[in-house]
Amino acid sequence: MNKITFIGAGNMASSLIGGLLAQGTPAAHICASEPSAERRAQIAQQFNIQTFADNQQACAGADIIILAVKPQIMRQVCESLAQQLTAQQLIISIAAGITTASLAQWLQHQSIVRCMPNTPALVQQGISGLFAAEAVSTAQKQAAEHILNSVGASVWLSEEQQIDAVTAVSGSGPAYFFLLVEAMVEAGVKLGLNEHTAKQLAQQTALGAARMLCESPLSAAELRQQVTSPQGTTEAAIRRFQAAGFESIVSLALAAAAQRSAELA
Ligand code: NAD
Repeated sequence: MNKITFIGAGNMASSLIGGLLAQGTPAAHICASEPSAERRAQIAQQFNIQTFADNQQACAGADIIILAVKPQIMRQVCESLAQQLTAQQLIISIAAGITTASLAQWLQHQSIVRCMPNTPALVQQGISGLFAAEAVSTAQKQAAEHILNSVGASVWLSEEQQIDAVTAVSGSGPAYFFLLVEAMVEAGVKLGLNEHTAKQLAQQTALGAARMLCESPLSAAELRQQVTSPQGTTEAAIRRFQAAGFESIVSLALAAAAQRSAELA
């Protein structure tokens, strides 16, 4: 079984560690390196895994090294690891906007998987887009997929550039749904509900709609048509959305996110 080292034990790393343990990876096969003593103590207590203050020490003997630090410090972290990596080790980066070419250069290493997770990973409902550099073996790909799937699901990308589209759809996506819920709560209050009730209604509706989407064999469009009777209330609302250019607003918004993602890389 693979030995997995996390470099950086923040929010994303801890959700992945929790997911891996829940899926049966033994705690003895996972360790994390983290400069904050407080965070190290927290992680060690929560997950019963070994922690290190030193990134290099943490990587010795690892089969898979997951880079889970903020993008701004990635170069420095990679360069400090470059000397000691062995060719068989797989590097997985979850940092937004850092290309496999930059990672390969900083790490002097070829086996790299880049991925774009999203925050629902914190509740084991994430989705990640993964891209593997050429040197990554099939077994390493499977291992990467297993790790990311422990907090939800994943999709493989054939071209690295597609990460920008993944960022636009799912990376930033949770915020779009939060925005819609915010707007629905506000509208519900305007229509006479108290805020607590409006929130409950909007949140549970979001959850119910998401479950229907995932569990039903029907497409989103078919599910929408099913609840939209001619001349009914839903149709009145949808017409209003469409008259205001809903689809084109969504398309422009996602294009802006993808463009920003490309600029950051
Ligand atoms: P975080 O700040 O919670 O965690 C980063 C951790 O790295 C911190 O605990 C910090 O103390 C530690 N750290 C700082 N310097 C370090 C060093 N030199 N060596 C080792 N550890 C060090 O951040 P996070 O939210 O977990 O994000 C981590 C990465 O995941 C980021 O690169 C981010 O881009 C990516 N990400 C993307 C999304 C998304 O929603 N699209 C979500 C999560 C994470």
